[in-house]
Amino acid sequence: MECVSTEWFECSVDVPVECADAVANFLMENGAPGVQSEDGGHLITLTAYFLGAPPLDALRCFCTDIGSPLGEPTGVRVRQIPQEDWAENWKAHFAPQVVGDRLRICPPWDAGVVDGRIMIVINPGMAFGTGQHATTRGCLLLLERARVEQHAARALDVGTGSGVLAIALAKLGLADVWAIDTDPTACAIAAINVRENGVDAEVSIAGGLDEVPGVFDLIAANLFANLLNELAAQLADRLNPGGVFVCSGFLTNDEPRVRSAYEARGLQLTSRHEQQSWVTLALRRPTRR
Ligand code: SAH
Repeated sequence: MECVSTEWFECSVDVPVECADAVANFLMENGAPGVQSEDGGHLITLTAYFLGAPPLDALRCFCTDIGSPLGEPTGVRVRQIPQEDWAENWKAHFAPQVVGDRLRICPPWDAGVVDGRIMIVINPGMAFGTGQHATTRGCLLLLERARVEQHAARALDVGTGSGVLAIALAKLGLADVWAIDTDPTACAIAAINVRENGVDAEVSIAGGLDEVPGVFDLIAANLFANLLNELAAQLADRLNPGGVFVCSGFLTNDEPRVRSAYEARGLQLTSRHEQQSWVTLALRRPTRR
């Protein structure tokens, strides 16, 4: 059985402004449920929390790869958070998120709030997708819109992380939702969240696209630009005529190449959302090819 640490660590890193989004994304993709940023002039301090030791070697490699190696004047600080501090501070970092007209993502301790919205309860832990990131919220927004516009029945969530998008799709009324993730830890966490949200009859979890049958009315993929481009042929082929593909996980500078990869496969842009330079696109397969 996998041994999961119960110790939380705070990892603060100073990075140049132009690298801040990329490093924040890296921290979240590597397990931090949320990242705070503090503007310090030409440097931004990013503070992330990790259950277990932060991935420092990978962080150093990543910063070197994007041309901003950690060292003077930039640096990284790590401290273990005493349990009692964490208990005090934890809740403040994961405020409930209201998305679109109908959705609300919240941690379990806020789940008692009744405001008429569809509640998606995510326990911040080791998988990406607590609703704190602009890309998760962007996907939820455009999925909600797509769902309103068509009578979808089957959906696929590629890179499900915490399971947040798959859970939202099931709660928006889709009867047959597949959630896939290549990371077994993410699959395990998604399975817990799916069960706790009461949608295990609707959501199936798998490790890859080859385990998933059929075509879909809605596909969500919150990944990153290169992977979205690599998967364009496979994902576009899985979309029904009239179906909508929602993708995110890239910044405005990568938008043209992601968009054109899917347009080249016959999809047409129907909706776009941008927040803090993170882009989410919705593209539709026309009913007549
Ligand atoms: N869907 C969630 C999480 C997105 S994070 C949200 O919107 O917030 C991206 C997830 O994609 C990670 O959990 C990562 O493990 C997974 N992933 C990375 N490469 C993948 C691939 N080739 N196929 C499926 N999942 C992948």
